[in-house]
Amino acid sequence: MKNIHPDRVHLLGESSCRDQGQYVLYWMSLSFRAHWNYALEYAVGLAEATDSKVVVLVSLEPQQTHLNARHLTFLLESLPEIEQALADRGIKCITRVAPIEKNIEALTADAFAIVTDCPYLDEDRDWLERALNVAQCPVTQIEGNIIVPVEAVSSHQEYAARTLRPKITECYTDYLEKPTSSMLPKSSLNMSLKGEDTSAPGNLLQQIEFEQSVAPVTEYYTGGFSAAKSRLDHFLHNDLEAYEDQRQSPTQPAVTQLSMYLSMGMIAPAYVLKRIEAYLPSENAAALREELLVRRELACNFVYYADHYDRLSALPDWAQQTLDEHERDQRPHRYTRSELEAGATHDDAWNACMNRMKEYGYLHNHMRMYWGKQILIWCNTPDYAHQTLLYLNNKYFLDGNDPNSYANALWVFGLHDRAWKERKVFGKVRPMNHNGLQRKIDLETWLQMDPAQ
Ligand SMILES: Cc1cc2nc3c(=O)[nH]c(=O)nc-3n(C[C@H](O)[C@H](O)[C@H](O)COP(=O)(O)OP(=O)(O)OC[C@H]3O[C@@H](n4cnc5c(N)ncnc54)[C@H](O)[C@@H]3O)c2cc1C
Repeated sequence: MKNIHPDRVHLLGESSCRDQGQYVLYWMSLSFRAHWNYALEYAVGLAEATDSKVVVLVSLEPQQTHLNARHLTFLLESLPEIEQALADRGIKCITRVAPIEKNIEALTADAFAIVTDCPYLDEDRDWLERALNVAQCPVTQIEGNIIVPVEAVSSHQEYAARTLRPKITECYTDYLEKPTSSMLPKSSLNMSLKGEDTSAPGNLLQQIEFEQSVAPVTEYYTGGFSAAKSRLDHFLHNDLEAYEDQRQSPTQPAVTQLSMYLSMGMIAPAYVLKRIEAYLPSENAAALREELLVRRELACNFVYYADHYDRLSALPDWAQQTLDEHERDQRPHRYTRSELEAGATHDDAWNACMNRMKEYGYLHNHMRMYWGKQILIWCNTPDYAHQTLLYLNNKYFLDGNDPNSYANALWVFGLHDRAWKERKVFGKVRPMNHNGLQRKIDLETWLQMDPAQ
């Protein structure tokens, strides 16, 4: 249906639709975009089949446990554009602040069906579960924030990029389909369903309890599809041709800075890859495909199949064993979580990483690797280090709370990697230290650079 690959579609009951209703409800839970949105177009397809309309719900929990002021502001910035694009197609989009049970109960009594996005993280799966408990009509989940649906590429947790790569590169071109987007004959715009005014995010935020201490980064990153697309366009015209060489160079960062948009579903990864494909067989395009397809979807594979993806117990045996064996090694320096969060260590480069995360919500991949590896060696135990890393990562990065956050936090401790030569504290886990960083990048230049450029 609608040129959507059947592997993306998961019926959570026996059928996708019941035989009565007034509209099809698309609960936009994780794909905050109207462009290239498989779940939205699937809902439109169901509405065509039932000769009805589509209503889109954005549901915001009144008490947020994972999204703080920075994340919420970015998310809310995307909504007016979505509402406008949907209104242009005769689709009403309503934003409501209430527990999901209340919103789903209120809106499903008259719905033929619910269509929603596919969650991978526990908190999102729990949210869906709560909605399912009260839904009065069939629910279909669509995997649209990934290029190849997780189960379509592998039936188990992959060991490393090298085990996922051959499988995913063989099949991904089957999943770059653009969903057909059509105009529905029946508009839902005149329905009397009430929602919040998203053009005044301040009013909306007043109804939500959330961690306020982390300031929004609107000056640097504006939420929404248009902003994401501008970044992509700019990157393709200016930076792609340097990507392979400079991807690991924080002083000449030729990277997309799309991670926060991908994380909040503001741009479809299949659309991004389709745009990159136009530049193949260039080595730069292939290098970006490696990150966007292999690395990003390895993280989805990991959180989908691993037990406790947020604990060290999800590491391979060799990594757990070596970290245990070195747990009592003398650390070169020891810091508490609050010293780290304050950026108050002896290491200027590390402090700058912490301060830039706090100020901009983003850090270049190479510096994230350095930042994470030092937390491993400066905390009392690997477990405390891992919990601290995750806490800081998800609090300050705009792209935090993502499958990538959990996979990369554990990569610091050996996930998806191999054993290296054994040394103090790291054991056989890949080491990274200040001397190595200094050899690889021009630290003075990086410290003086304006990160907003
Ligand atoms: C300690 C640590 C913590 C990290 N935390 C996060 C996080 O919270 N959220 C997050 O999205 N990424 C995280 N990463 C992965 C990576 O650093 C970022 O995805 C990347 O830097 C984002 O910048 P970009 O969009 O310019 O990347 P680009 O180089 O332009 O890559 C394009 C896209 O590919 C994906 N990608 C790139 N590198 C990786 C990678 N190593 N693993 C998985 N996918 C990748 C991202 O979706 C990215 O947007 C972390 C890495 C480390 C080492």
